[in-house]
Amino acid sequence: MQITKLSRKNIQALTPYQSARRLGGKGDVWLNANEYPTSPDFDLSARQFNRYPEAQPTAVINGYAQYAGVKPENVLVSRGGDESIELIIRAFCEANDSVLYCPPTYGMYGVSAETCGVAVKTVPLTADFQLNLPEIAHHLDGVKVVFVCSPNNPTGGLIKRSDLLELLQMTAGRAIVVVDEAYIDFCPTATMANELANFPHLAIIRTLSKAFALAGLRCGFTLANPELIGVLQKVIAPYPLPVPVSDIAAQALTEQGLAEMKQRVANVLENRMWLIEQLKTIPSVVEIFDAEANYVLVKFQDGQKVFKALWEKGIILRDQHKALGLQNCIRISIGTRYELEKVVEGIRNA
Ligand SMILES: *Cc1c(COP(=O)(O)O)cnc(C)c1O
Repeated sequence: MQITKLSRKNIQALTPYQSARRLGGKGDVWLNANEYPTSPDFDLSARQFNRYPEAQPTAVINGYAQYAGVKPENVLVSRGGDESIELIIRAFCEANDSVLYCPPTYGMYGVSAETCGVAVKTVPLTADFQLNLPEIAHHLDGVKVVFVCSPNNPTGGLIKRSDLLELLQMTAGRAIVVVDEAYIDFCPTATMANELANFPHLAIIRTLSKAFALAGLRCGFTLANPELIGVLQKVIAPYPLPVPVSDIAAQALTEQGLAEMKQRVANVLENRMWLIEQLKTIPSVVEIFDAEANYVLVKFQDGQKVFKALWEKGIILRDQHKALGLQNCIRISIGTRYELEKVVEGIRNA
């Protein structure tokens, strides 16, 4: 206990992020972390490990810029999208500033803020999971960073583009707006990347963890204007990306890598449609929410019962019962057809 007492007060009070891995479970159907169900196959081409890596590896930066339709100077690569969240908070928030986000949403915005000793303001999403802009406007005092996730995790739908634009107008010159596009590869036309030219305070988070099927690689991106990227460059570690990571990331971003990613996306959308059709025929299903990414949020009559019944069969889903407004809801990642058949059978028998 003595060592704990030496740690910062906010760390003593911190509840760490409840990652899918940390929550555990035993089984062979893992649909709780929005991963792709199978791994792409890569060989390391790098042979030299005695030197420090390039700080921002050119092949990765150029490859991602081209994929995202932006210039290389608009791209920062980091250890997953999660590192981008933390970099932005560390770079922009003083001790008495705060960050604002809209639950139910991704848990890392709050955890990263608390880790940095930065206060959190929350403005819940509306009943249809959209931004409550008047309430956000009301709570902007002292807010330096606003996080919006679109498609939103765990609800699954997109935030209206017109609302994002209004949020950007409302925060101009006062705060950074972070649009977390971790799942945008599943609905690419909804990206805000084409708005970067209009908003110097817009930052977009991307990742190779979802549609690129590389969650184990730990590689993510921030897209923003060069001035904002320059601020983040000052706080990021000197050599953030290990050589094997940039080696494989560069391969994933070649023409062939991108073609394979698009094939994966098509496969996920097809399986998602199949799952939704099946769920519609199950009496215990109360609501299936709009799904734009590689997961579906489903409300049941008794969500806890369904979650536990599947858990005991080794089918591990993500319980959302405790998330704001999501009582009896479960988030199901889109796996293989075989895995989804197991899920549907499990729910029918729960
Ligand atoms: C998965 C995810 C990320 C980033 O994950 P990394 O694996 O750290 O790249 C960011 N935001 C949301 C909403 C996510 O679901």
